[in-house]
Amino acid sequence: MITLDDFDTYPDFPVPGVLFYDISPILGDAATFRTACAALMPREPVDVVVGVDARGFIFAPVVAQQLDVGMAMVRKKGKMPGVLLESTATIEYGASDLVISPVGIENKRVLVIDDVLATGGTAAAVAEMLHRAGATSVEFSFLLELDALNGREALDGHTVTSVVRVP
Ligand code: AMP
Repeated sequence: MITLDDFDTYPDFPVPGVLFYDISPILGDAATFRTACAALMPREPVDVVVGVDARGFIFAPVVAQQLDVGMAMVRKKGKMPGVLLESTATIEYGASDLVISPVGIENKRVLVIDDVLATGGTAAAVAEMLHRAGATSVEFSFLLELDALNGREALDGHTVTSVVRVP
């Protein structure tokens, strides 16, 4: 089982007032990493797994391989070529321009994976892009959810699973 003790915490990172939850201890132990990946599996059948830049990229390929489905990337703007959909996310500590390729998303059931659900700004922007790309359903898995920031409300209508919740 993954608990809050499996995360390192850093006050005032990357900006004053933010308590940063670091997943490095989870990655550093094979059994804990395996347990984390297993806990991120979707509730419903999915056709593709989307990893969110950057820490979603650590878990999404493992889950996709386990499910025997493909993986796609949501990247920060400027890192990926081609015809892309764009959205701006307001996040816990700033704003972020995100992009995704619409290729392979139309009529697909999607699982989105990221490490932390904070305000939900990132995840809501990802959901909006995926719906624009023609996804039929969008489910979310996070390792950690910060309940006080109400991110889940931004994802109304979607299945949201968080392995650990911080009240
Ligand atoms: P938000 O859009 O506010 O839900 O923020 C989610 C994104 O920012 C995720 O990609 C997280 O990796 C990162 N993030 C936000 N707040 C934190 C935090 N307190 N600790 C670690 N990562 C965070």
